Amino acid sequence: MGNQPTLRLLLTSVVLAIAGCGETSKGPIVDDPSTVAPQTVTIYQLAGLLGMHVSESTQTHVKLKNSANTVMLFTFSDGPVYVNAKSVGKIGTIERKDGRIHVSRSLVAQIRPALHKPASGSLVRLGNSSRCIVIDAGHGGKDPGATSVLGTREKHINLAVARKVASLLSERGFRVRMTRSSDRFIELEQRAAIANRLRADLFVSIHSDSFPKSSRRGYTMYVARSASQASFRAAGSIARAMSRTGLGSHGTQTADYKVLIRTRGPAVLVEMGYLTNRREAALLKSPSFQTRLAEAIADGISDYFG
Ligand SMILES: [Zn+2]
Repeated sequence: MGNQPTLRLLLTSVVLAIAGCGETSKGPIVDDPSTVAPQTVTIYQLAGLLGMHVSESTQTHVKLKNSANTVMLFTFSDGPVYVNAKSVGKIGTIERKDGRIHVSRSLVAQIRPALHKPASGSLVRLGNSSRCIVIDAGHGGKDPGATSVLGTREKHINLAVARKVASLLSERGFRVRMTRSSDRFIELEQRAAIANRLRADLFVSIHSDSFPKSSRRGYTMYVARSASQASFRAAGSIARAMSRTGLGSHGTQTADYKVLIRTRGPAVLVEMGYLTNRREAALLKSPSFQTRLAEAIADGISDYFG
């Protein structure tokens, strides 16, 4: 439909004009009051004992969160447990009763030491609400970006990670805007224009890399050649946090990408890893690794403002 992009653009402009750099909302939290034998607890009770809530529950995994921490439990027998993307051991024996997952109470002692106290860089700070961050998922619509050796399109990976980054940042109290939150095409100038119109405190464009040689891997931060010190600091902060994903780093490099030179405020382009490398292509495709990447990028952004 010919008119739709114009209409969308118009609607976007209206919403932006009204809401400024708005926020995304979270889903409701469900409580579970069931009682069990003392040595086991339900996932909901486990969350309560850790001062967290269940933010996601699927057949394969459960995610617990508070303002500073994310715990991922893979709910198959002896599945791994991660706290802030770091492994803290195994879940041990699990039991499914009445549609609820029961785990050993000893998990509380296993997880608790790895939780950050609410004083680290990732908690909700009063000042965060005055920060406007624009998250740009690279490519989209008729522009698929690179295609991975496993056939995945870059635009989909970028969007999946960007969405998670945006939602993590808004949970931490930042005002967040995405240049696109669906599979649609946006001109590069338009992406920068969104950040400029909102006077964004930081613009972060999210991409996945490609290279003729399949052996090349690792993540790279880009800033414009004439970038401000603030852009370099933000890039350094995101690069440091991303080292926790286990991927190798190519550090911060300069390149005059249009989204970087057209954005007036601090701007960073993140190339998360190589779609032309088989190992990284598989990681970039995996939703749980996408979450780790998103958490690292969000942590790096929080640290920059911290
Ligand atoms: Zn790209």
